[in-house]
Amino acid sequence: MGVPIRECAAAKSYHRLKRRLFFAGFAAHLLLLLIFQFSGASMRFSRRVSGVTGGAEWADAVVYLSCFFSLFYFVLLPLDFYSGFVVERKFSLSSQTLAHWVGEEGKKYALLLLFFVSTGSGFLFLLKVFPDSWWVYAAIAWLCLSLFVAKIFPRLILPLFYPLHPLSAGPLKESLVELCARARLPVKEIYELVISGKTNKANAALVGIGGSRRILLTDTLFSRYTPLEIQMVVAHELGHHAHRHIFRGIGFNLCLVFLGFYLLRGFSVFLPRFLGTESLADLTGFPALVFLSLVGGMIILPIQNIFSRRQEREADRYALEKLPNKEVFVSLMKKLADQNLSDPDPDPWVEFFLYDHPSISKRIRTAESR
Ligand SMILES: [Zn+2]
Repeated sequence: MGVPIRECAAAKSYHRLKRRLFFAGFAAHLLLLLIFQFSGASMRFSRRVSGVTGGAEWADAVVYLSCFFSLFYFVLLPLDFYSGFVVERKFSLSSQTLAHWVGEEGKKYALLLLFFVSTGSGFLFLLKVFPDSWWVYAAIAWLCLSLFVAKIFPRLILPLFYPLHPLSAGPLKESLVELCARARLPVKEIYELVISGKTNKANAALVGIGGSRRILLTDTLFSRYTPLEIQMVVAHELGHHAHRHIFRGIGFNLCLVFLGFYLLRGFSVFLPRFLGTESLADLTGFPALVFLSLVGGMIILPIQNIFSRRQEREADRYALEKLPNKEVFVSLMKKLADQNLSDPDPDPWVEFFLYDHPSISKRIRTAESR
């Protein structure tokens, strides 16, 4: 397919290393959770927290969850640093400075801490107040939270990490706006997302719901791609919009979350007895709940990826219907593979388990067979 063999070898070793780090991180999380739960550390810590707060339940939950999150975050930070900074620089995929990485990590920590403590304490509250029907309320809360995050993500969260602004006026913008209009889709703005200070990779995305819906194109696309190739990228994102992929994704994940909570409900008698706690809402057993959610997340990962790859194929088909130019699609795929150091032809099990997009070679073959 014309991707230079040297690049293929580099891509294979990059992805092999990233894969090993991903599974090592997962195993390290599980091991730490088991140690924290079964060494008695969780019980001693929750008692100590109660001693400090005077036993106020909401304060217990906030202090325990903040310390719990921070402990795991900082213990596993070296792995995060190696995977997200050292490896990216080693393979020339990033020119990020150490100071920039530290700044980003600080913002990420603060945001995740806020998210973890608020959702964790909300979940424990539902477990306590609705001991039989918590799983229904928790699934409804998950849906509301997903819609809320999808709504605020482009306006409030993304700008914390990357500058973004509407694409400057000019022939390229005119052609892209015309493409949106021809597709009769009300995507009013196309934004340029400035990521070149962090990574050399190129990407595009459809984000937001309602008034926050927009197409993002990274600034790393504009120097290397022809206007026709950038139009093809936008046509693909319009495919996601036309097929309502964001809502369908939230709906699909809601089914999985509903099923997961229902199964966890089945543990509500057995698990507290096994852990020596009063109920699932007991802070002492919180590491076991996180353990089960991580294992559950890993089990459903390939199911989510099958769903995601299906949506990506749909978006590719849509792009090729609106812009029936296979040559442009193929050259775009090859350039993206080269720039992002994608493995064009991964092992089938790797693609099945970990890929949320079809491999580049499959996307090219599908386009060429049209
Ligand atoms: Zn896509």
